[in-house]
Amino acid sequence: APVLAVVGRPNVGKSTLVNRLIGRREAVVQDIPGVTRDRIAYDALWNGRRFTLVDTGGWEPDATGLQAAVAAQAEMAIQTADAVLLVVDASVGATATDEAVARVLRRSDRPVLLAATKVDDDRLTSDTAALWRLGLGEPHPVSGLHGRGSGDLLDAVLDALPESPRDLPGTGVGGPRRVALVGKPNVGKSSLLNRVSGEVRSVVHDVAGTTVDPVDSLVDLDGEVWRFVDTAGLRKRVHMASGMEYYASLRTRAAIEAAEVAVVLIDASEPIAEQDQRVIGMAEEAGRALVLVFNKWDLVDEDRRLAMKRELERDLVRVQWAERVNVSALTGRSVAKIAPALRTALASWDRRIPTGRLNGWLAEVIAATPPPVRSGKQPKVLFATQAQTRPPTFVLFTSGFLEAGYRRFLERRLREEFGFTGSPVRISVRVRE
Ligand code: GDP
Repeated sequence: APVLAVVGRPNVGKSTLVNRLIGRREAVVQDIPGVTRDRIAYDALWNGRRFTLVDTGGWEPDATGLQAAVAAQAEMAIQTADAVLLVVDASVGATATDEAVARVLRRSDRPVLLAATKVDDDRLTSDTAALWRLGLGEPHPVSGLHGRGSGDLLDAVLDALPESPRDLPGTGVGGPRRVALVGKPNVGKSSLLNRVSGEVRSVVHDVAGTTVDPVDSLVDLDGEVWRFVDTAGLRKRVHMASGMEYYASLRTRAAIEAAEVAVVLIDASEPIAEQDQRVIGMAEEAGRALVLVFNKWDLVDEDRRLAMKRELERDLVRVQWAERVNVSALTGRSVAKIAPALRTALASWDRRIPTGRLNGWLAEVIAATPPPVRSGKQPKVLFATQAQTRPPTFVLFTSGFLEAGYRRFLERRLREEFGFTGSPVRISVRVRE
């Protein structure tokens, strides 16, 4: 879902407005560990369209002073949201702080809306008009007290946000395949994108009839055009200040959902981090094809290489099936191997095994290694079919419960037989009594 970030000084009535916009408090989308409680994302629904509302909390002056804190927060909102809503107290008027944040917001290429709160009587409509001078277009008057104006504001919000769902995989027939380039800060995402995207601009004009979302990049890799989703921040080489991890995490999740294949960049010169595992977990949960790209290989010596091997076995066994490439975005080494890895992963993700072949193979496996007996009964596997691709999803019809260990064994054998490198595979069991 597209993301709306709400920013505003403390006490302008932002929380009241947010509550009006989302309807009720319980609608917490995600509870990401380590996130301060004052930054919360909500699921919002208006006129049948979903969006995510991120409440940035109040601006507290920190060591660098209020103005800097405000600018940083506005910057964060711009980088992570599809649209930004600035909330200003109409009964007070635009303060120097409001003006400072408006300046930051005016420079961004994201749509910005202006809400004028505490407009509880007609006397204040003239105060609302005064807010035009913030240069953010029409101020939308709202009253937290009687909720007046919030419907009109929501209409304006939806006009500003891209369609939802923006771009679900599989819906766009044809067109370049969608790639999410993700990974923790400083792994080299910008460096890699900049290295491979020399031809981006010309490509944009060459692909006739392709609608290019401004946040995406079309990149020519190995003679093929790929669509790297949500790369606006990476292209600009903007760096996130501390405290922005939460937004980065929302953004990462959204990019993965919008993509068909996730390229998770990992810093090979450092131990595999929990954050790497989290990003990989997101791709896995979303059922996307997966390519693990180990960057900064120019910094890897023999000791580090051996340590990495151990870490792979310890921390990444879950995704042994992923495509893996070792590169250096700095020197360009092996960057050319990324495109073939993407193709392999997507081919697996798309692969369909004919039912006859699947059942022929299954009969052999089961004859050689039958499922373990449970409470005196031998479960029979009656039939299998591939219910879905993207990712490959199999349904096994059985006469009894299959243990998790045996299901894993079947998945292993399935992968040995049919490949599926670079793609998750799902197996569900339907017990027929
Ligand atoms: P991002 O936050 O993931 O976009 O990371 P950046 O692309 O901004 O890179 C972070 C830092 O790592 C920068 O100082 C880069 O120059 C450096 N870097 C990126 N790729 C490599 C690489 O392959 N080798 C080395 N040695 N440094 C790299």
